[in-house]
Amino acid sequence: MEIKTAKLLDGKALAEKIHQELSALTTQLQVKVGRPPGLAVLMVGDNPASAAYVRNKERACAKVGIASFGKHFPTETTQAELEEMIAALNQDERVDGILVQLPLPDHLDSVALLNKIDPDKDADGLHPVNLGRLVRGEDGLRSCTPAGVMRLLQEYKIPLQGKQAVVVGRSILVGKPMALMLLEADATVTIAHSRSQDLSSITKSADILIAAVGRPGLITAEMVKAGAVVVDVGMNRVTDASGKSRLVGDIHWESTASVAEFITPVPGGVGPMTVAILLQNTVASYLKKVS
Ligand code: NAP
Repeated sequence: MEIKTAKLLDGKALAEKIHQELSALTTQLQVKVGRPPGLAVLMVGDNPASAAYVRNKERACAKVGIASFGKHFPTETTQAELEEMIAALNQDERVDGILVQLPLPDHLDSVALLNKIDPDKDADGLHPVNLGRLVRGEDGLRSCTPAGVMRLLQEYKIPLQGKQAVVVGRSILVGKPMALMLLEADATVTIAHSRSQDLSSITKSADILIAAVGRPGLITAEMVKAGAVVVDVGMNRVTDASGKSRLVGDIHWESTASVAEFITPVPGGVGPMTVAILLQNTVASYLKKVS
């Protein structure tokens, strides 16, 4: 019997396309405006995964012509010092987007810091004003990862209206805004979490299944409806028997790819889309200021 393999939702290719569009736009506008868009990524401490994400974001900025005003602070930096920096960036005319790379060291209050960012420079879309705009269905800066998932689904013309969508995970960063965006697109949305009972029967009802958990291979083929669209937000570093480390998602890819109609790879799925939307949000704030 022939084993079917799901079609890929190629986030890497789409992110590249978005970068090219943004690059063309910034090149054209810079001449008129007299400055490029600017993004400040703030990182505290030496978390190697965070350092890699920050490098990635700054590299992407350079590629599309966004100026980076990033700052790397030592672990012992105080809340007051960071708040002062955010206040200065809020006032800085060259800066259109501000992002605090999470997680922060334990002595810092990330929610209080995010609340200090000017909502119009909130490139990550996590400020309560922007989350509130999402709840109300108003225009605003949208959280990058769920907005990246929505853009990917749109690119592949995945119908959402009236479909059963299941989001596994309810974080403020991914799960909750993801569910709201699917609802905005007229899907019928269920959110599952660590206290949900019989996860399998919930995930099996999904036409669109989004996993944002942080547990490698939690969702297996038996938990997925045949023909579903499966999006894996999870990014988990695992070490195999030979000691080699690799990145895997929350979906057991090898088995699920033979059940699903569409599936995102990890890496190369949602990760690059998150960065593309971050740049898009920065350019949107720039455009709002200069037009
Ligand atoms: P998080 O804040 O730890 O939230 C995880 C969510 O999963 C929680 O809501 C938790 O439920 C739920 N959960 C945990 N175990 C579960 C289980 N066994 N069954 C069902 N639900 C369970 O994580 P996050 O920030 O949302 O990130 C989730 C994953 O996405 C991580 O792997 C992260 O690295 C990745 N991520 C990727 C990108 C990207 O660009 N690709 C961006 C952001 C995050 P409770 O609320 O009940 O605890």
